[in-house]
Amino acid sequence: MLADSHCHLNEFKNVAEQVKKAANVGVVQIVSNSVDLESMQENLRIAKSFKEVQCALGLHPSNVLQMGNKEIEYALAFIEKNAAKCIAIGETGLDFRHAETELQRAKQRESFTKQIELAKELDKPVIVHSRMARAECVKLLAKHNVEKVLMHWFIANDKLLQKVIDLKYFISIGPSVLFNGHICRFLEKVPIENLLLETDAPVSYNGKRAEPFWIKSVAEKVASVLQISLKEVEKHTSKNFSKLFES
Ligand SMILES: [Zn+2]
Repeated sequence: MLADSHCHLNEFKNVAEQVKKAANVGVVQIVSNSVDLESMQENLRIAKSFKEVQCALGLHPSNVLQMGNKEIEYALAFIEKNAAKCIAIGETGLDFRHAETELQRAKQRESFTKQIELAKELDKPVIVHSRMARAECVKLLAKHNVEKVLMHWFIANDKLLQKVIDLKYFISIGPSVLFNGHICRFLEKVPIENLLLETDAPVSYNGKRAEPFWIKSVAEKVASVLQISLKEVEKHTSKNFSKLFES
């Protein structure tokens, strides 16, 4: 049994086809993440239609920059209202590549902090995007004593990785492991108890648009890098998935 712990099914034209293709290779749990109000509404509909799909509701740090304060407040209230229908808050976090000015970064921090507080209040895990702001994201999460965290598409130096391990956060490894030796070497340092798999589909890797069924290839690659069987990868990652999302 495999799970895609982070993708964006609402960005596919034919969601049913994606769910079927994934199920055909054993991917039976998919977490479809949101980035704004529209994608939250779409993901709620998708999660209702497919038993394999659960949705995460949240505001992406890059999208937050295009939103007014009223719009953000409305979206946060929407998350709270629909909390019972979602499995997590996400994707949220900080993205300093898209926020170059201090004003923009402050706006992202404010929205991230509000979503962290909401997740704690609702007792939901947080799915975190941390591009060019990894240490700061971890610091903010730790400061708020958040316990259930998935650091998505994450890579870190030894010191930050150790902090994430000590905090018992989960780290999701995606298709970049198929193309990038640097990610393989990072993966070797991640304890299997902290590991989850993701595609971030439909993001493109090496010019090819990812789909949730790629999880099978990601799992095979993880097995080969860690020199364990595919069964072991499936066993641990599905146990971790339940621990994060279903406890
Ligand atoms: Zn994403």
